[in-house]
Amino acid sequence: MAEDSRSRIMDYYSTQITKLIGELSKLPGIGSKSAQRLAFHIINMPKEQAEHLSAAIMEARQNVRYCRECCTLTDEELCPICKSDRRDHKTIMVVENTRDLAAYEKTGKYDGVYHVLHGAISPMLGIGPGDIRLKELMTRLQKEETQEVIIATNSNLEGETTAMYISKLVKPSGIRVTRIASGVPVGGDLEYIDEVTLLRALDGRTEL
Ligand code: ZN
Repeated sequence: MAEDSRSRIMDYYSTQITKLIGELSKLPGIGSKSAQRLAFHIINMPKEQAEHLSAAIMEARQNVRYCRECCTLTDEELCPICKSDRRDHKTIMVVENTRDLAAYEKTGKYDGVYHVLHGAISPMLGIGPGDIRLKELMTRLQKEETQEVIIATNSNLEGETTAMYISKLVKPSGIRVTRIASGVPVGGDLEYIDEVTLLRALDGRTEL
């Protein structure tokens, strides 16, 4: 029924507008109503602003890649965090995605480095250890003098499964493995948690 009403709405618009609405509605969290609202907003923008928007999309898409070291999204071979000699390279915090990294960076209180997995293990969704950036983490631990791996995956089932898996892989090497405290709400996306909660979770981390 949703499809039906969508195609009916689109018939009223010109092909170009319909195309724009169609592309916008493919974005996560954007339903057909939001897509229409955004499309009309874009059409009413000063031409220059619309050009900036489309150029920013293209440039980001073309230049953004994974950091050679920590796998976060960056536009250089090595991200600014991995490049910095003011960071403690012996402490690696493992997060599920670049947004989680950004959440910890916003607190300004963590001075170690990161490793971004780009997902979590989920047998239900068919996502195995080989589908996230775990191999890269293990390679990294072999060549760097790491003292501690802090596992900061989400506290939902996938995040916990991933934490246990990493712990089993890393611990035999003698590197200290810790897990952030579960002050983080179950199933909560790290990105939406306030800084105080994040810092409390980090300070209260426990040995695995
Ligand atoms: Zn990096």
